[in-house]
Amino acid sequence: MDTKRTDLQDNPLLKTSSLPPFDMIRPEHVEDAVRTLIEQTKNKIEHIESNLKPSWNGLLAPLEEIGLPFEYAWAPVVHLLGVRNCDELRKAHEKMLGEVVALDLRIRQSQPIYAGLKKIKESSEWNTLNAAQKRVVELKLRDAELAGVGLTGEARQRFNAIEQELSRLSTDFANHVLDATKAFELIITEKNETDGWPESLKNLAAQSYNQSKKDGNSQATPEHGPWRITLDYPSFMPFMQHSKNREQRKKLYVAFVTRASIGKLDNSKIIEQILKLRREQSLILGFETYAQLSLATKMAPDVPAVETMFRELSDAAKPYAANELEELKELAMKNGQKDALTQWDIAFWAERMREERFDYTDEQLRPYFTLERVLEGLFALSEKLFGITITKAHGEAPVWHPDVSYFKVSDTAGDQIASFYLDPYTRPHEKRGGAWMDNCLSRRKVSGELRLPVVHLCCNSTPPVGDKPSLMSFTEVRTLFHEFGHGLQAMLTTVAYTDVAGINGIEWDAVELASQFMENWCYHKPTIMSMARHFETGEALPEELFDKIRAARIYRAGSLMMRQLEFGMTDMYLHHEHDPVGNLSAFDVHRHIAKQTSILPPFKKDRFLCSFTHIFAGGYAAGYYGYKWSEVLSADAFSAFEEAGLDNARALAELGRKFRRTILACGGSRHPIEVFEEFRGRQPRTTALLRHSGLL
Ligand code: ZN
Repeated sequence: MDTKRTDLQDNPLLKTSSLPPFDMIRPEHVEDAVRTLIEQTKNKIEHIESNLKPSWNGLLAPLEEIGLPFEYAWAPVVHLLGVRNCDELRKAHEKMLGEVVALDLRIRQSQPIYAGLKKIKESSEWNTLNAAQKRVVELKLRDAELAGVGLTGEARQRFNAIEQELSRLSTDFANHVLDATKAFELIITEKNETDGWPESLKNLAAQSYNQSKKDGNSQATPEHGPWRITLDYPSFMPFMQHSKNREQRKKLYVAFVTRASIGKLDNSKIIEQILKLRREQSLILGFETYAQLSLATKMAPDVPAVETMFRELSDAAKPYAANELEELKELAMKNGQKDALTQWDIAFWAERMREERFDYTDEQLRPYFTLERVLEGLFALSEKLFGITITKAHGEAPVWHPDVSYFKVSDTAGDQIASFYLDPYTRPHEKRGGAWMDNCLSRRKVSGELRLPVVHLCCNSTPPVGDKPSLMSFTEVRTLFHEFGHGLQAMLTTVAYTDVAGINGIEWDAVELASQFMENWCYHKPTIMSMARHFETGEALPEELFDKIRAARIYRAGSLMMRQLEFGMTDMYLHHEHDPVGNLSAFDVHRHIAKQTSILPPFKKDRFLCSFTHIFAGGYAAGYYGYKWSEVLSADAFSAFEEAGLDNARALAELGRKFRRTILACGGSRHPIEVFEEFRGRQPRTTALLRHSGLL
């Protein structure tokens, strides 16, 4: 008994103040801590439910408090899983995951709490609550309703059955795509076939060959092969761009767009079932279509608003896309291709044209972008725009890896307002790929005392090699700016109700505003020139290289835009107009839309929908448009700075402070359209995105 108590006292996951002790957390702490916490939380919830006090202090305040210990006990586990993955931790996480999810659902679907929230909205207290508090209540009500809390009897049963069925179908869908992707390989044995391949593709393909032969005796080399090409994007795309063998390109392309469309792994039926069940579910909740249900939690007000955006972007982009195709045709003809251009030629000739026009490589740029200078530039920019100071505080916070650094953010008066961890480098054996920003601790009040927000910025940049510092590719620089933008929104929030502080509670189609906004500065000459210095010679980035970077930004922008619109429009049509029990199939819908968006006639056997995991197994159903929606917002926000004058330091500072006061400070505490209008003084427009993409 006693030892157990001592154990718990020493358990680093049960701390609830200052920074999580990342250096002390071990997999064996997880179960004890989380179990204790779940038990305590269940008791608290039962207490809240049985002594229901429908007021802010009686209901919302205690609900808010429940989240705090989870930020210290569960969030660090999830975080470490992403940055220091190991079998023991994965097992510990897996063991507790089910119970944590169940508890979360239990709270969100609680009938007494739902009734209490409704009472608050009808009470006289409602008018005394501030906007952020009202939004907390409204978001909770909305989420509960969409989770079916208001349903009774048969409707409720059916709703839950559909939920389960949909979750199973999505999992099957995703697994089929994975299995179909894995099942395909193209083995190349002739050395002359690799003519023109970049080294990285040869390396990857030889490595893939060796890994696929489990005997361990395979000795494929990048130089002499054999080479194994797969449908994984890092293998598929470079092959399509560089293989001179048209027949093999065709073979690979067809395999790619028909993934999971035949035999045991066929997703066609699943697509129809998912669409049908989603329609039924939305009807039960009182919506006419699934798109309406999806938009209930988005910034976009309704389907017509999304369609207007589609139309504006597509009207502008289509002539450019047609022109871009003509250019490719000419280049192909000039270089001896006799047959008409097809889908499997596009990436190849587009890459040849890119080489011809912007003959620079990432390797050429890297020496100019050391992580240290990039950070200095980013921090200086943030100081100029938002009036914040960022200082290194290495050693002041426990970290999970020696490469991780810790920074403090202060306002002009010198008071600390937030802090963040930066885990910059790739560590493939234990850290997941990509880049992300995550809350470590939310801004909140605990017993009247303000707790400051802390965030994680995780990237997969190139680490230092030997005595060379970390030399970043331009994409890595851009990614860092992107994640830092998310971080700014989480750190500069002035809200202290966790549910709507920082990025919490922001509508999904608006959450990339701040991040993409920051990316724009990577094409701002003074910003880039101030940070780009050769790490050995100290010389500035040659102007012509910068010009090429800027020109490459809009390369084939028309075609890329039309491709994204094709996905977005198909997704929206399937979840809105399409009758899942009617005569037309989902493939008919896709073909119908592709005829409008694509300049080349659509490829007849295209079954891309069978691998469209974003909408059938991810969270993007009737939400794929959100990528463009966010881009419209971020470009439009940035255009305010262009109008103020990008060389006018005073104007930038003034507008930067306004951006901070509105977009960055309000976070999820108000509807994003309100916040946007306050910053921009008007509704968002598509013009800036089109102009930045060279499509005006
Ligand atoms: Zn993002």
